[in-house]
Amino acid sequence: MSGALLHVDGLNVHFRGPKGKLVRAVNGVSFSLQPGETLGLVGESGCGKSTLGRAILRLGDITEGRVDFDGIDVGGGNRNAIMRLRRETAMIFQDPYNALNPRLTIGQAIAEVLRVHQKVPPAQIDMRVAELMRLVGLSPDLAARRPRALSGGQCQRAGIARALAIEPKLIIADECVAALDVSIQAQIINLLIELKGRMNLALIFIAHDLGVVRRLCDRVAVMYLGRIIEEGATEDVFGAPKHPYTQALMRAIPEIDPDRGLPDDPLGGEPPSPLDIPQGCAFHPRCPQALPICRIELPQKRTIGGSDVNCHLYDAPSIHSEQERETIHA
Ligand code: SF4
Repeated sequence: MSGALLHVDGLNVHFRGPKGKLVRAVNGVSFSLQPGETLGLVGESGCGKSTLGRAILRLGDITEGRVDFDGIDVGGGNRNAIMRLRRETAMIFQDPYNALNPRLTIGQAIAEVLRVHQKVPPAQIDMRVAELMRLVGLSPDLAARRPRALSGGQCQRAGIARALAIEPKLIIADECVAALDVSIQAQIINLLIELKGRMNLALIFIAHDLGVVRRLCDRVAVMYLGRIIEEGATEDVFGAPKHPYTQALMRAIPEIDPDRGLPDDPLGGEPPSPLDIPQGCAFHPRCPQALPICRIELPQKRTIGGSDVNCHLYDAPSIHSEQERETIHA
């Protein structure tokens, strides 16, 4: 896509798992991200979203496919390209305590990034640390504290300040509010919304909390067993989900009304293992609308109502008649 900051094409990440079995964690993933855009990456645990995020930032190996960042191929292992990627991207992790070196104070942790990336002259490092702390809503008075002396929310803000110290064009946030209390989650989300507007940051927001994704993201990509099965503008994916898996995910969002209680299990149990991905559409053992072809053939991407969807329900009508439809998961 022209003007894209990030373009991922046909990305596979496969590796040997327990007993030498092949784990196909990411399969044929393609998407683009514009400067300043926020993409939510959603799906159940184990769907490959964290592996994909790490592969894009070259924190994990790529088996096949291409990753272009700001017009440069960073997927091929070129050292200079990867160094540039390191200078212009950052990751925010789920556990704010584990993400910070417990031996360094918060100020030292932020200063370390400024020093390694030579962002400011040495004499200005302390001043820049204080600026960054204020930017994320932390008092510079906390610079001398170690991570364990801070709350989870303060620690996550320190992690965000460390990420911003690079002045990145792209941040990948991997479940970065999942470990925080709800009220602190809201503060961190508000902070990210403010920062992305102010700094034209592109953000890939990996999350299982769809409410947060709806609030923060411009676009959403839904992953199932290593593949993106639906992608579109947030209002389209949430307002009119097309793929049966996305529809089930939406139905699984807890209702605010306490009288309605928790929803049933619209997803029907656990997904299959990435060690043994079903042939055809990997969702077919759980899909209430499965067709005979779903067991055999991988659905191709089609653009439906503004979203890209991989599902045989949207093949040309001549391919499958209503009579062909059967429920094969029962
Ligand atoms: Fe269901 Fe078939 Fe669509 Fe997969 S391709 S989601 S099994 S209808």
